[in-house]
Amino acid sequence: MYWQSDMECMSRDDLELVQLERLQATLNRVARNVPLYRKRFADLGIDPYDIQSLADVQRLPFTTKADLRDNYPYGLFAVPLRDVVRMQASTGTTGKPTVVGYTAGDVRRWSELMARILMAGGITKDDAVQIAYNYGLLTGAFGLHYGVELIGASVIPSSSGNARRQISIMQDYRTTALVCTPSYALHLADTLDDLGINKTALSLRCGLFGSEPWTEDMRTEIEARLGIQATDNYGLSEITGVAGECLERQGLHINEDHFLAEIIDPQTGNVLPPGHKGELVITTLTKEAFPLIRFRTGDLTSLIDAPCPCGRTLRRMTRIPGRSDDMLIIRGCNVFPSQIETVITETGLHAPRFQIVLDRIGHMDQATILLEAPESFCTDSIKQSQRILENVRIRLNTEFGVAFEVRLVEPRTIDKSKKVRDLR
Ligand SMILES: [Zn+2]
Repeated sequence: MYWQSDMECMSRDDLELVQLERLQATLNRVARNVPLYRKRFADLGIDPYDIQSLADVQRLPFTTKADLRDNYPYGLFAVPLRDVVRMQASTGTTGKPTVVGYTAGDVRRWSELMARILMAGGITKDDAVQIAYNYGLLTGAFGLHYGVELIGASVIPSSSGNARRQISIMQDYRTTALVCTPSYALHLADTLDDLGINKTALSLRCGLFGSEPWTEDMRTEIEARLGIQATDNYGLSEITGVAGECLERQGLHINEDHFLAEIIDPQTGNVLPPGHKGELVITTLTKEAFPLIRFRTGDLTSLIDAPCPCGRTLRRMTRIPGRSDDMLIIRGCNVFPSQIETVITETGLHAPRFQIVLDRIGHMDQATILLEAPESFCTDSIKQSQRILENVRIRLNTEFGVAFEVRLVEPRTIDKSKKVRDLR
């Protein structure tokens, strides 16, 4: 089943023509409307009209998360604010997040792309789809929500948290499809066990999972314990609706008519051929408000050139096994260690020495910050130390929407070279 068979199954030659045409239009638009790109192209002596083939894209400079941060909040918008109908945010490397704007057309295309991904994952208009992602500034619940509505299925926006409530909704509303992070799906399976509810008491038949890396073992476990068929999908908060698995489940089809995907060596920046693992770089081809040229995603994957038995001609990428930078994914939220440092510093602790410890309790991520007590703490009262710890904890939770535990440890006990201990 396809949502847009004309685009999802078109010949590679036709697809490449569409890509080139859209690439040229995008380059002209950013050169005209986005000062960063205008300057970069001028510095490199590139005229958008010089880009005459898809391979020419390699002449263009990369866009990094640092560029997004430096242009906060609206510096990279390619349309006036009056044309923007939606703001979402994505995690930045320090301090402020990035603001991502959408025009009405962007929202429409976002919905279409999510409808494709949902349908490739087995959703039909007869499904009742429970979306257990947080509905907020930082996440992509909305795109999935619109995609479900577009298909004509029923959307159940249960949002994140409260596993018991999720399960009672699942039972009462006879949910047939679950959309959340894979670790949350396993947490729901644990909760079912705790409640003594058999999976056969549910109407679930499929699940679409994303926002964090997961393994084939996790897929097998989710499928067995929830009695569903599970597929993976991929997007970034900066660039939504990028790719999703079909029911063949041999890689994620990239929506190439909307995104030009390259794989680069993260060290040299050189483009690698299909089959080679490297960092995924995306150029948006149809975004109006927030187009990005050669954006370095930090996600490691490789491209699969072989045709897929499902009939889609869109190239696939392998599932994401990890990152090329130090971004952490905690309960589906993106967190950089540098952001944590910024937050701690803002609570008044100068040059804090700390370590982030990540573990999994049951199937849920558990994040603990071990904070070295400053020397001055020795003379301070216990009450005051507790107040500072509590302050750090609240600030972290507010900033990331993830519950951190914060513990004080003795001075000079933290190995500063190891900022993160990931035990998951
Ligand atoms: Zn396929």
